[in-house]
Amino acid sequence: MGLDAALQRELIRTVAERIIAHADELVALDQAIGDGDHGLNMKRGCEAVLAELDKLAAMPLNEALKAAGMALVMKVGGASGPLYGSLFMALGKALPAASPDREALTEAFAAAVEAVKARGKSDVGQKTMLDVLVPVLAALRGKPVDLSARVRDTATQAAAATVPMLATRGRASFLGSRSVGHMDPGARSSELMVLAVLDVMEAGEK
Ligand code: ADP
Ligand code: MG
Repeated sequence: MGLDAALQRELIRTVAERIIAHADELVALDQAIGDGDHGLNMKRGCEAVLAELDKLAAMPLNEALKAAGMALVMKVGGASGPLYGSLFMALGKALPAASPDREALTEAFAAAVEAVKARGKSDVGQKTMLDVLVPVLAALRGKPVDLSARVRDTATQAAAATVPMLATRGRASFLGSRSVGHMDPGARSSELMVLAVLDVMEAGEK
């Protein structure tokens, strides 16, 4: 899969703009089970990424992902900044410099998910972003038939599935059983990013 500079730019721009467009929703989700800053944290980070869009689009994809990850670490803050930063930096680190194929992309995403687990000392089932990232990885590893639609459905269903979960990591875990009944904000932001990537990839295939 070759990713030209125009598509790479579109990918980065769409992901960042999608998060910014949903900042209020992410704030509301974090107000319910956290401190209400997730949307603003992510918006600040995504604005920093957009400010560097020209530079990021001109870099090889792996370098661009590392640079975007660095920007997120520096600007997002909170728990999610270092976690999303780790995700994108590890993704860039694991990708080959030359146009990666689907398998290389999937395995780089696997390394990125491992980096989040290591950084967060967390795993699937704790009502965090990992409850979307891990099922999405499993979907990516599945049959290539209708892959995009399956990954899309998986991301959406996985985010919704955090609603009845009990948080045992992150700020929401301080609420104990009161964390039940709300969607995890990081799960939702992960869903939004996955859907944004799929939108761009599908448009690029047409
Ligand atoms: P903070 O919790 O510091 O206010 P944010 O509100 O920006 O940071 O991010 C909260 C989100 O970060 C949560 O909804 C959850 O998805 C994710 N998160 C928090 N701690 C962890 C962890 N240890 N591992 C994975 N994800 C986590
Ligand atoms: Mg918060």
